[in-house]
Amino acid sequence: MSKPVIAIHGGAGAISRAALSAEKEQHYIQALSDIVAAGQAILAEGGSALDAVTQTVRLLEECPLFNAGKGAVFTHQGTHELDACVMDGRTCDAGAVAGVSRIRNPILAARAVLENSSHVLFGGEGAERFAANHGLEMVEPDFFFTQERFDQLHRAQAEQGRVLLDHDGAAALSDDPLDPDRKFGTVGAVALDALGNLAAATSTGGMTNKAAGRIGDTPIIGAGCYANNATVAVSSTGTGEIFMRTVAAYDVAALIEYAGLTLQQASDKVVMEKLLAMGGSGGLIAIDRFGNVALPFNSEGMYRGFGYVGDAPSVGIYR
Ligand code: ASP
Repeated sequence: MSKPVIAIHGGAGAISRAALSAEKEQHYIQALSDIVAAGQAILAEGGSALDAVTQTVRLLEECPLFNAGKGAVFTHQGTHELDACVMDGRTCDAGAVAGVSRIRNPILAARAVLENSSHVLFGGEGAERFAANHGLEMVEPDFFFTQERFDQLHRAQAEQGRVLLDHDGAAALSDDPLDPDRKFGTVGAVALDALGNLAAATSTGGMTNKAAGRIGDTPIIGAGCYANNATVAVSSTGTGEIFMRTVAAYDVAALIEYAGLTLQQASDKVVMEKLLAMGGSGGLIAIDRFGNVALPFNSEGMYRGFGYVGDAPSVGIYR
């Protein structure tokens, strides 16, 4: 059996045109390394894959460098609506929340749904009520406000209402290695534990200037998140509508299960062929039941890292 292993992502996108100091880049590398190490530590102590992905995504939500939880992007209407999902490959149980604006850590709400409800996906106020009833920390919606994301919304709106992706303005203002106006704000984790169980978790603020009420791929099982001990655990980041229409995360599992592809072949086919053919941009992280890791992306960069228990974390931003 493979050594336990964890992989994480902090979103994919285009390289910033800003002159980046080595010091700024180092902040991202350090944060990715620290969070991979936190996941490795959970697995090394015999923790479950489900706990490792939940906790690493919570850390990514809390880290201001990554755009989920605090620092999430704005909708067109100037609000925040966050989505998150977690799936346990052992049982294929899943929990998800969509369109929430008062839950500090949406991934913990998704986990509470997985553990305490026969339902899979809660939206909006019902999700918030469920989270509050299960003792999760609630915040005022302005908790998620950051000036950078607010300025980013105005730049996107000045470009005649485009949603984040093709927007190309003002990257020079940024000291984020990936252009914040052309980067996806999702975070995610996948893991294999010592018992051979897989799990996946994904959390997002969505896409800048999205319409209020829009829900992306992140909380949709099989699109933004999927885990099944029989095959693979996957967490996606990118143009959510295309990940939904291609059922991207599940497609990786299906290609392994029904077409006999390896993890690398299956994830490359989805990211480099099928998503691209429909205009989808982004990437995914995946670990199969043998402990193989794949981190493909078709954008210029993806914040990413992985580590087997006992090894040093391996992290990257660009190709
Ligand atoms: N996939 C996310 C969404 O469409 C965006 C992202 O990955 O940042 O909401």
